[in-house]
Amino acid sequence: MARKFFVGGNWKCNGTTEEVKKIVTTLNEAKVPGEDVVEVVVSPPFVFLPVVKSLLRPDFHVAAQNCWVRKGGAYTGEVSAEMLVNLSIPWVIIGHSERRQLLNESNEFVADKVAYALSQGLKVIACIGETLEQREAGITMAVVADQTKAIAAKIPSWNNVVLAYEPVWAIGTGKVATPAQAQEVHADLRKWIHSNVSAEVASSVRIIYGGSVNGGNCKELAVQPDVDGFLVGGASLKPEFIDIINSAT
Ligand code: PEP
Repeated sequence: MARKFFVGGNWKCNGTTEEVKKIVTTLNEAKVPGEDVVEVVVSPPFVFLPVVKSLLRPDFHVAAQNCWVRKGGAYTGEVSAEMLVNLSIPWVIIGHSERRQLLNESNEFVADKVAYALSQGLKVIACIGETLEQREAGITMAVVADQTKAIAAKIPSWNNVVLAYEPVWAIGTGKVATPAQAQEVHADLRKWIHSNVSAEVASSVRIIYGGSVNGGNCKELAVQPDVDGFLVGGASLKPEFIDIINSAT
């Protein structure tokens, strides 16, 4: 089954209203392939979601960077999936390694969030990935399989999930995985999904790569058969994000 290329831009905790509007202007003026070729989703901080959504070209979409694990209520400081739906935000990133590491989000908690967000009608970019110590210990596949297994156990369908493989050692470090390293993990993940979820999901689910992707290295990663796109941090704030989108062709 053909998998449509997916490019996500994670703006993390960056930007002022003026800066965000400037990025949107750059995106709106960009010449990129159509929605039939590449799905583009940008993820500003919560507070800028309404302004970005209102100004962004209609063929690009927005994602929140997180949401609460269950129905909203007495959870000070949190933003619920229902609120995102109310604002017509279609996507949410869940389980980013910065949250797993800095805020101690466990595999179970991430999986509960993915399941709840899906149950409310959101589409989810679910992040997984190993640390440098885990890679050096030779347990990369065991780690990403455990993270994926926790999610698989709690969701009824993978239709609205994009799986983002983001090795922690490559995020924000400038140390990008080689195309061979990315392809190896993506292919192994697809095999794992084939054996543990279904052949249909294995062939249809998009597995995107994240970790120091930029305008210079995107093309050689994009041609790997099991790399179905990117989740981009730092470079998504810069004009080179357009080159990354264009690596879809
Ligand atoms: C990310 O935050 O998901 C990411 C991949 O960051 P960067 O591209 O900056 O490594």
